[in-house]
This record gives sequence, structure tokens and C-alpha cells, in this order.
Amino acid sequence: MSDGRAAKRVAKFIKPLRVKPGSTVDLTEDFDPRYKAGMKKRDGVELLGTGVSLLADYQARLAAQDTYGVLLCLQAIDAGGKDGTIRHVMSGVNPQGVRVSGFKVPSAEELDHDYLWRYAQRLPSRGEIGIFNRSHYEEVLVVRVHPENLDRQKLPEEAKGPDVWQRRYREINDWERYLTDNGIKVVKVFLNLSKEEQRLRFLKRIDRPEKNWKFSAADVREREHWDDYQEAFSEMLSATSTPWAPWYVVPADRKWFARICAAAVLAHTLIGIDPQYPSLDGQAREELLAARRGLEAEAP
Ligand code: AMP
Ligand code: MG
Repeated sequence: MSDGRAAKRVAKFIKPLRVKPGSTVDLTEDFDPRYKAGMKKRDGVELLGTGVSLLADYQARLAAQDTYGVLLCLQAIDAGGKDGTIRHVMSGVNPQGVRVSGFKVPSAEELDHDYLWRYAQRLPSRGEIGIFNRSHYEEVLVVRVHPENLDRQKLPEEAKGPDVWQRRYREINDWERYLTDNGIKVVKVFLNLSKEEQRLRFLKRIDRPEKNWKFSAADVREREHWDDYQEAFSEMLSATSTPWAPWYVVPADRKWFARICAAAVLAHTLIGIDPQYPSLDGQAREELLAARRGLEAEAP
């Protein structure tokens, strides 16, 4: 397939997943966690293979060009499939060019800073693909669903008012715009899992010894806040899908399909950047040729 055709195919594939900037999302109404675009698993797995090699090629060029960085933010409810998505989507790329950062409950040092500080520390550099496994969006998700997290953030009184979430949406949008304008492209994937599929995945984590480490009783307590999370997700998607950093809602009940979607979203971003290997100017080329002549002259 030509590059142009592949680019068109990717764009068409991810279009239904994109949250139109300015639209109001009701997650439970608007997006089906079981959607699979009529695809069969076998074809999907093959397509993922194609996507993974495409990503490897683009990443090599992104690194060589050293002008743009890409930040992929992954958000999901527990058992949404973030870890597996990262493992599969990035399986073909050079590990030197990728930086994966996970975000958990903030440390004392992190709480002593403004809330975006710890995320800024982990941004990709130019030429790099950065992946946030959970991201600054936790600051309007878990912190919102459990407001005691906000109390721990040691904010001044005037920063804790009822408008705090609207303000954070704006601050996040502004931050992402700043990054985009300066060559760090931000792309955001929300893995949309159904409540029933979460139940089944939790059961597997309990029943299979090699999955036990992934499960804690707290996960079941968190599940009791399912509706609060769905609401917080919907508001977040509505307020922070912007022309410069749109959200993609990826159906997550089928792991294989979620991985194709995430790969396609990342590929679409890289295709948009279209990174090129740097070409040498006349003088640099002369130097290269001179070096070549020297090496040739050394031949035994
Ligand atoms: P896991 O992804 O299973 O390792 O869990 C990480 C935990 O850290 C989750 O329960 C998140 O809700 C929590 N977490 C991540 N970011 C924050 C944050 N900014 N404030 C409070 N809790 C957070
Ligand atoms: Mg967990």
C-alpha cells in the first residue's frame, strides 16, 4: 500500500473515535465499548502487525529529525487495558526512542508542587515518543471523584473553590496548546470499558495466580464509584478535546481491537508530523565524501 493510501485508511479508521472539539459527550450513550468496526479478530491481529511496523519506521524518522516529540496520554478505568496496549503497540519500536511513565498516588514531594509539575518532569524530548500510563487527567478524575485528594494538594483557599474543575480543564488545555505550539504533539486515548467486562477481568485477576498482583480489594471499592467516574470521564472528554489535542475514545472490551485503535491514533499523529531524515547541505556532503575517500585509501 502506498504511504498516501495508508494515511487515508488510518484517518478514516479513527474518525468515529474522535471527540469533536466543542461537542458534549455522554459516554454511556455515545460510545459503545464493544464496537469493532465489523472486523474479525484474525484480520485485526494481522492489521496490528502492519501498524506496529509502520510505527517503527515513523519513530526512526522522528528521532532522526529531532524536531518534534509526541506525547500519548492513556486513560482508562481499572482493568481498562492500558498496560497491554502499551506492550503491544510499542512492541516494534526502538526502546531508545520511547519513554513510558506511569503515575500513581502522588508523593510528598509531588504534593509540594503545583499539580502539573510531576507530569512536566516526564515529557518526551524532541525526537521521542512519550507515553503517560495515567496522566495529568487523573487531576480531574480520581481527584474529583475523591475530593480528599484535593485536600492533600495543599492548595491555597482561593484555588479550591467550586470552579476548580473548570479551571483545571482550562489550564490543561492551555498547557497542551503551549506544548503543541512548541513541537510536542499531544494525543489522548481513552480506553472505554464496560462495567460487565471490568467484572470479568477482575474475576480473572482473582482466579489466575499470575494475575493476582494486578488486583487489590481497593479496585472493587473503586468500582462502586462507577457512575461517578463515567460522569467525570464524560465531562473531561467534553471540556478537553481540542483541535490541538483531541481525545479518541477507544472501545476497550476487546483487547485486540483496542490495540489496533491505539496504534492507529499514534500512527495518525506521526503521519501528520511526517518526519524526514535530515538531508545534508553541500559542505556536509563534501566532508562525508572526503571521509569516504580516506577510508577507501586505507584498504589493505
Ligand atoms: P495502578 O494504575 O493500578 O498502579 O494504580 C495507580 C493508582 O494511583 C490509581 O488508583 C490512581 O487512581 C492513583 N492516582 C493516580 N494519579 C493520582 C493523583 N493525581 N491523585 C490521586 N491518586 C492518583
Ligand atoms: Mg490498578
